[in-house]
Amino acid sequence: MANKKVVVIGSGFAGLSTATYLANEGCDVTVLEKNKDLGGRARQFKAEGFTFDMGPSWYWMPDVFEKYFETFGKKVTDYYELQRLDPSYHVLFGKYDILKVPANMQEFKNMLEELEPGSGEQLDKFLAQAAYKYEKGINDLVYKPGRSLTEFMSVKLLFDMVRMDIFSSIYSHVRKFFKNDRIIRLMEFPILFLGALPENTPALYSLMNYADISLGTWYPKGGMHKIVEGMVKLAEEKGVKFISDQEVLSVDCEGNLAKRVITKTETYEADVVVSSADYEHTDQKILPENFRNYNSKYWESRTMAPSSLIFYLGIDKRIEGLVHHNLFFDHDFGPHAQEIYETPKWPNEPLFYVSAPSKTDDSVAPEGKENIFILMPVAPGLEDNEEIREKYFDLIMNRMEKILGEDIKKYVTYKRSYAHNDFINDYHSFKGNAYGLANTLKQTAILKPALKNKKLKNFYYAGQLTVPGPGVPPSLISGQVVGKEVMKDFNKN
Ligand SMILES: Cc1cc2nc3c(=O)[nH]c(=O)nc-3n(C[C@H](O)[C@H](O)[C@H](O)COP(=O)(O)OP(=O)(O)OC[C@H]3O[C@@H](n4cnc5c(N)ncnc54)[C@H](O)[C@@H]3O)c2cc1C
Repeated sequence: MANKKVVVIGSGFAGLSTATYLANEGCDVTVLEKNKDLGGRARQFKAEGFTFDMGPSWYWMPDVFEKYFETFGKKVTDYYELQRLDPSYHVLFGKYDILKVPANMQEFKNMLEELEPGSGEQLDKFLAQAAYKYEKGINDLVYKPGRSLTEFMSVKLLFDMVRMDIFSSIYSHVRKFFKNDRIIRLMEFPILFLGALPENTPALYSLMNYADISLGTWYPKGGMHKIVEGMVKLAEEKGVKFISDQEVLSVDCEGNLAKRVITKTETYEADVVVSSADYEHTDQKILPENFRNYNSKYWESRTMAPSSLIFYLGIDKRIEGLVHHNLFFDHDFGPHAQEIYETPKWPNEPLFYVSAPSKTDDSVAPEGKENIFILMPVAPGLEDNEEIREKYFDLIMNRMEKILGEDIKKYVTYKRSYAHNDFINDYHSFKGNAYGLANTLKQTAILKPALKNKKLKNFYYAGQLTVPGPGVPPSLISGQVVGKEVMKDFNKN
């Protein structure tokens, strides 16, 4: 592969990871990014003294990041400084009704015991299984390219897959161990990251509970964007060239090869192309029709992960009742979930999440002020306009003020909202999805959109819409998996 020209489309975690992997193998790699800033959904912006992470805020599975940097002989600490959060997060069920989730395991068990006697012991059993799934899932299954069933055809792996509960739902799995409604909601919360209902999510994903409870919630000092900065630095050390503000419009193909990547101003010759832009956009808009992997009917029938209505707020005071991560679960999730997945519409009584990184990090807000990020999951594909956003801003402010027992709205000095239209304009996101494709059983492993183009020998897809799925760690892994496949294919030829 020495001197082979690789063009990577998109600079999110998947693009950064693929680019670095292939540059490390000796390829001549150029990343073309549509936006002015690198990092995709994990970009950052500054306004009025505040520094806002635009997308991810939960740093889970620190081992995946460690393993990533180790691949290149580096450590996470070479690029950014991590801190474990304690409490991990708060779940607010109502005024003065808060579950303060501690980082320490014994304290976590004590918290459960108070809600349901015997649940501490149940937790041990639950986590023992979750640890097994994590070990197998994160160290083995997620690194499978999902190109053929034969990858899964070892007796040992099939045995493991049964043990890993691929075929039952997390909904019934959690209820085998716990009866208390709050514990159940706590255990089902990480499933929200996977973009599907607990009923439709394989019980394999109790591995997310292991990530949450055993491995902990972490924070990179300076914000989540530090991960992007670290990955970009490493990529540049390996020789990757980044060109931002360079939207890819099309790809020229000849025979069974992608030959050139075309932007508004330039043409880039390529021996290999990896697109980490949203899969549907790549397939339906960038590639010529006869080279697409799927048609529009296929995309319409996919279960997308939710979109989000987000508010980035600068507050002219500190908010007493918040910690770094706060889940406002003061209503039943059932109706909201219905409005996301079953009968898509703007919700009546939404749950929402508030991150206040200024609780941990002085550098993200001016002294005495609070930096907050509010996220409300909503169905993709909905009408999005200013009026709707404002309605939910008022609703959320009222709920926060009521539950926290303090004025907030009148202290808002900076406000920016973000929803479907922004996801589409900024990332070409299908239906304005925030986290790609939902991790349902019917959209797992080989049932996900394929990472390789079926007609072009040298065209690949990476990112949260292909294997292994949504989230920062999976996107980063997706880039590595594609990098390995490229090397395998080209060493064969
Ligand atoms: C609001 C929000 C909160 C989240 N919270 C968390 C969290 O707390 N923890 C977690 O683990 N995960 C979280 N996620 C999910 C996680 O951020 C994503 O799964 C991950 O960042 C996706 O990375 P990616 O590389 O697949 O895609 P992206 O980051 O979207 O990267 C794709 C890139 O391609 C570029 N692109 C698109 N079209 C073109 C084109 N034509 N030409 C050139 N470039 C193009 C885009 O601009 C973008 O930079 C969150 C996501 C969002 C949106």
